[in-house]
Amino acid sequence: MSALVINAGSSSVKFQVVDPDTGTVHAKGLVERIGEPAGAASLEREGADELTSSQRFTDHREALAWVLDQLGGSGLLQDVEVVGHRTVHGGRRFDRPVVLDDETLAVMRELSPLAPLHNPANIQGIEAAREQLPQVPHVGVFDTGFFADLPPEVRTYAIDTEVAREYAVQRYGFHGASHAYVSQRAAQDLGRDPAELKVVVLHLGNGASAAAVDGGRPVDCSMGMTPLEGLVMGTRPGDIDPGVLLHLLRHGMDVDEVDDLLNRRSGLRGLTGTNDMREVRAAATAGDAAARLALDVSIHRIVRYVGAFHAVMGGLGALVFTAGVGENNVELRAEVCERLAVLGVSLDGRRNAAVPRGRAESTVVSADDSRVAVLVTPTNEELYIARAAAATVTP
Ligand code: AMP
Repeated sequence: MSALVINAGSSSVKFQVVDPDTGTVHAKGLVERIGEPAGAASLEREGADELTSSQRFTDHREALAWVLDQLGGSGLLQDVEVVGHRTVHGGRRFDRPVVLDDETLAVMRELSPLAPLHNPANIQGIEAAREQLPQVPHVGVFDTGFFADLPPEVRTYAIDTEVAREYAVQRYGFHGASHAYVSQRAAQDLGRDPAELKVVVLHLGNGASAAAVDGGRPVDCSMGMTPLEGLVMGTRPGDIDPGVLLHLLRHGMDVDEVDDLLNRRSGLRGLTGTNDMREVRAAATAGDAAARLALDVSIHRIVRYVGAFHAVMGGLGALVFTAGVGENNVELRAEVCERLAVLGVSLDGRRNAAVPRGRAESTVVSADDSRVAVLVTPTNEELYIARAAAATVTP
């Protein structure tokens, strides 16, 4: 059996055909620049040359038509028994993966105001895929799902209870597929029972979040009601005094400008002009003070969260780095771990510098005498979604 995993963003669709049991990827690809004059699409298949196209894709329907045409033409749809969709915000309605039918899609539409950047794009992708692949079940796997059972004291913001209820204001948490997959995989690769391990996962990519996973269950996370809270990200600031927003709103900015500031003009980009960590690192190495400050602000925030989650869990067995920056940025891992020596974290510099790329297993980068195991574990959200989708439709 195979699963087709679809991750539809506002102007892109990522896809993968994967065997949920073995993790074998039969095909994967990306359609980008949907709606622009020239699109960009690519498909990699097992044992075949990469296929690319720069045709125009007017909307998600055309993008999905291209994807399904190519996959169908290569015989790759024959074994697909389920389509797993990455869906961002499940609100209070979806605490686990759900079969997407007219009814559940209607609920997703109602939830769109909670994730205006993400849910509408997810819905467009789902509608196009259901229309063109009606014979197989479609399942939504929500980013918030892994965190649905956060303890009440973690979930609750200390505001007027009535307001919170009326506007569905609470911590939901995001990057759930990544945190779930990585925390399980890290325990497995350490040969430890997840039920007996306290883990902090640092998902450091363009979006970034930290999660505390105690005994396999998430007990805290840095993202909140929206994916804005927490760590410093590519274009988002993470934690910020809400008073700053009132100040800006009262002194000339309107809501859309503040939204743009927080979602697109903050984080690394706000501090340096670029959201690409490679460029920030290169600039800092060349002596650029703004780039160095951006790194210091990011590292300080990470250290703050790891320290807090250590206290929340009453200990720490494993610290796990994942996603674009976490998996690739040797210096950042070293700088973070150096600051965490107080918790018993001790990195092995040689291991940290020699993490192999492109393998699924974790690499242990801590020293043998480190009290906390430090791992680099490549994330695989697609495999998690494929497995969750398959489990949902398999009796
Ligand atoms: P993601 O959102 O997980 O794809 O991560 C994207 C981020 O990872 C960007 O900021 C990239 O600059 C960063 N990244 C990717 N490769 C490297 C690398 N070799 N060194 C530092 N950062 C990297």
